[in-house]
Amino acid sequence: MRAFKAHLRGISPYPYRKVEAPVKLDQNESPFDLPQALKAEALRRLAHLSWNRYPEIHAETLRQRLAARVGWPEEGIVLAPGSNLLILALAVAAGEVLDVSPSFPHYAHAARVTGTPYRAIPLEAGEEGFALPLEELLSAFQGGVFFLPNPHAPTGTLFPEEALWALAERAKEVEGLLVVDEAYREFAGTDFSPLGRGNPHVAFLRTFSKAFSLGGVRAGYLLASPEVAALVREVLPPFVLPAHTGTILEVVLENPGYVEAVAAHVRAERERVYARLRSHPTWQPYRSHTNFLLVRTPDAEKAFRHLLAQGILVRRQDHYPGLSGCIRVTVGSKEEMDAFLKAAFEVAYA
Ligand SMILES: *Cc1c(COP(=O)(O)O)cnc(C)c1O
Repeated sequence: MRAFKAHLRGISPYPYRKVEAPVKLDQNESPFDLPQALKAEALRRLAHLSWNRYPEIHAETLRQRLAARVGWPEEGIVLAPGSNLLILALAVAAGEVLDVSPSFPHYAHAARVTGTPYRAIPLEAGEEGFALPLEELLSAFQGGVFFLPNPHAPTGTLFPEEALWALAERAKEVEGLLVVDEAYREFAGTDFSPLGRGNPHVAFLRTFSKAFSLGGVRAGYLLASPEVAALVREVLPPFVLPAHTGTILEVVLENPGYVEAVAAHVRAERERVYARLRSHPTWQPYRSHTNFLLVRTPDAEKAFRHLLAQGILVRRQDHYPGLSGCIRVTVGSKEEMDAFLKAAFEVAYA
């Protein structure tokens, strides 16, 4: 086939494989569906919507509401069906993509499919297991777009704010763009948006897929300077946010109370499971500020298979540099975590 760009030949698929299991702890989803009353209200509004009409070109009404809620200028907000699509749009626009390793795999994948030059700097060993190699990053960041999840995936580490201020300053100096991916912010209680107030070289990604419990709906947004946001809007197709998605988001933005309940549950379960795993004879959990735990085991494949045989699906992470033996476990309901712990402690004697 000669229809396509040469760099797309033999492109490796995104690292995800669907596996069925009764206890699903492999995708960092919320264990709870949207509260029934909100679902019912969204369905009621959907019935009144004119499905034959296109939605607003750039979700203007919703952007106004989001602007008021998060305290960010409306012109600096871009809404899209998932922050993954915003990452792709940023990679399309980027002169270069800078990443850390390991990291969220979509940054590398988006750079690869768009043919954008890509570099990843390995994380260092740190107090909590992993740390930012700050000096190396400051010199590697010469412009381009630097994607940094904080809290970090797939380690769960929260990098210190001072490091991010230094990177934000560097972004300004080299006229690049630091993109802080705040997908897990509700589980850490963090808000890095002050880094971008008055510095157009910092932007933020947020998602409705995790604490907002809307992974199936596909929605996320970018907070950026008006200039950066305008460019990202032009890279995305027009009318990109579906009318039904907009309607659902309207309802949750009017009734966001459940989000803190989800986050509080996750934080409490995460700490309970972490404390319990600390007494495991061979598995070692890392501290986490997210809705998942990274756990080092003597053999990731064996751990994965043993858990799956008990009906528990987790995600292997041992293909990442520095993560040999590691599995990632999403924090689910209390019952799911009890089942996970029971199976985890059985494996030691298997
Ligand atoms: C889950 C996750 C997202 C969410 O992506 P969506 O497309 O909004 O579902 C973004 N970034 C990171 C690091 C994630 O782990």
